Amino acid sequence: MSIFLTDLNTQEVHKLVASLAEPAYRARQLLAWVYQRLAVSIDEMTDLPQAFRQKLAQQVNLHTLVPIHEARAKDGTVKILFSLKDGKTVETALMKFSSTDGKHRYTVCISTQVGCPIGCPFCATGQQGFERNLTPGEIIDQVLYFARYLQDKTIGREGEGINNIVFMGMGEPLANYDALRQAIEMLNSRDGFGLSARGMTISTAGLIPGIERLGNDKLQVGLAISLHAPDNKQRDKLVPINKKYPLGELIPACREYFARTGRRVSFEYALFNGVNDSIVQAQSLADLIQGMNCHVNLISANRTTNQKMQPSPRNTVLAFQQELKNRGINCTLRLSRGQDIDAGCGQLRSRFLT
Ligand code: SAH
Ligand code: SF4
Repeated sequence: MSIFLTDLNTQEVHKLVASLAEPAYRARQLLAWVYQRLAVSIDEMTDLPQAFRQKLAQQVNLHTLVPIHEARAKDGTVKILFSLKDGKTVETALMKFSSTDGKHRYTVCISTQVGCPIGCPFCATGQQGFERNLTPGEIIDQVLYFARYLQDKTIGREGEGINNIVFMGMGEPLANYDALRQAIEMLNSRDGFGLSARGMTISTAGLIPGIERLGNDKLQVGLAISLHAPDNKQRDKLVPINKKYPLGELIPACREYFARTGRRVSFEYALFNGVNDSIVQAQSLADLIQGMNCHVNLISANRTTNQKMQPSPRNTVLAFQQELKNRGINCTLRLSRGQDIDAGCGQLRSRFLT
């Protein structure tokens, strides 16, 4: 019994149900149990005939993930380390934001790979090497886990649930395109989890073929590019895939993405002391993206074990931001969340690896 239900797309669920000699509406019921009623076991699907439930239980598992560690930060961020079926681990974070109507909004930060092949020198995941891609079910189950978590009334309040999904956890989403796409389709589908694609953002180190596929597939998700440097010389070091997909090709690919989807691209720029935080670099950044319909997220970097890559001081960050603003660049300063629990990309997991 090695099939996991969340690894199946809608068509495959219909096929499975048909192979068990059940009518098509049972497939819709089953999907609703998994993605809307957030069932934890096949047993609880009491409006499905018992014989069908038994046959189903012989053929499929419901969940791919087992939580093995939980950390809660003072700012409400929760991070879970999950064990996968082969014993490998990934982490997922839930971030809580207050909104003006008094309710909370929740963003879940999802992993797409075990480790990462890109190897950025400031990134805890990048330093762990690459192990394997996650399956669609392993991606989806991270979302379902936190959707259930918020149903617990001691945590989420009435009417609160997941509002946004960001693919900014461990791994490079566009290096696992097929599984990512299947997961997004199910999370977006009305028969599935039903979250608007507008509430989803993919963060990428800049894999151009993946950006092009995303644009062609018209998934309508937000695109965030981990830029971190305004010129090829510096970016080759910080985001090594830049050697393959340099800025001269990446920036036009972002323009094309906007043209195809109408979704404004955002650029992530984490500031590292004495590395990429000078005023001259702010000016080059402004020149690079001048005239684009885009947004820059300046990030106060997370501390890493890499001595040469430490966060910039606050006044340097503010001066960098001011320079961008003076040059008409749309930008915000994003505070790093959950620092007291190592909520940065791959940091929790690296504490558990020996
Ligand atoms: N691989 C994808 C998505 C996962 S990383 C990507 O690189 O975009 C998510 C974000 O965390 C990226 O913007 C990445 O550059 C950033 N990040 C990784 N380590 C960081 C650190 N030490 N400080 C600040 N941001 C970091
Ligand atoms: Fe991979 Fe993103 Fe980390 Fe770079 S920053 S190593 S692309 S997860």
